[in-house]
Amino acid sequence: MNFDHRRVQIVLALRRLGVTDTAVMAAMEAIPRELFVPPSLRRHAYQDATLPIGYEQTLSQPSVVGIMTQALRLTDRMKVLEVGTGSGYQTVVLARLARRVYSVERHKPLLENAEARFQDLQINNITTKCGDGTIGWKEQTPFDRIIVTAASLDVPPVLADQLTIGGVMVVPIGLESTLQKIVRVTRTMNGLETEELRDVNFVPLIPTEVLAKV
Ligand code: SAH
Repeated sequence: MNFDHRRVQIVLALRRLGVTDTAVMAAMEAIPRELFVPPSLRRHAYQDATLPIGYEQTLSQPSVVGIMTQALRLTDRMKVLEVGTGSGYQTVVLARLARRVYSVERHKPLLENAEARFQDLQINNITTKCGDGTIGWKEQTPFDRIIVTAASLDVPPVLADQLTIGGVMVVPIGLESTLQKIVRVTRTMNGLETEELRDVNFVPLIPTEVLAKV
């Protein structure tokens, strides 16, 4: 199977779907998405589809990764927090565009798989933690950018507090199994400014009080 050819295809698809940022497209073209899915699903790695990665979790579809990453407006000086490492695909896209990425995942086996991929790909600017990402990563605050890759009911206030002034958070907002909206939140001197970007479908972000019971 020719994955190189498929990577080019995915860039063409991203463009059709509204991803215009050339740095984001170049990052996604360079990353072998087939390494982030279970072997049995590798032939689907370059479809614009959400793919299962175990533990009822999913690898986001490329167009959503592209749209969310583009919405962050990253530069290579930025420190980024990601909530929901999952397969690690989005993490690697961020790591190619930002200075350092801090990524939190609650499922240890998923995190271990993701960490092994970061090592294989020799990516050294990702720091991970297993735990509840809704409380952010206090020791590393503030963050220039925050991305939440699971659907939240509202803009997590604790995370917003961990942004720099002028910092941006991109988060899918809405109920599980209904459509969610990707929302971009900018922290200003006067509070939060919110823009709705587009509809998506994500697995839920598990709130802290629920996590305490499992
Ligand atoms: N960016 C990932 C998407 C994974 S799906 C990828 O492209 O592969 C969302 C992930 O968020 C899941 O792995 C899920 O376990 C994780 N998650 C959900 N609630 C969480 C929480 N409160 N803290 C940390 N991780 C959480």
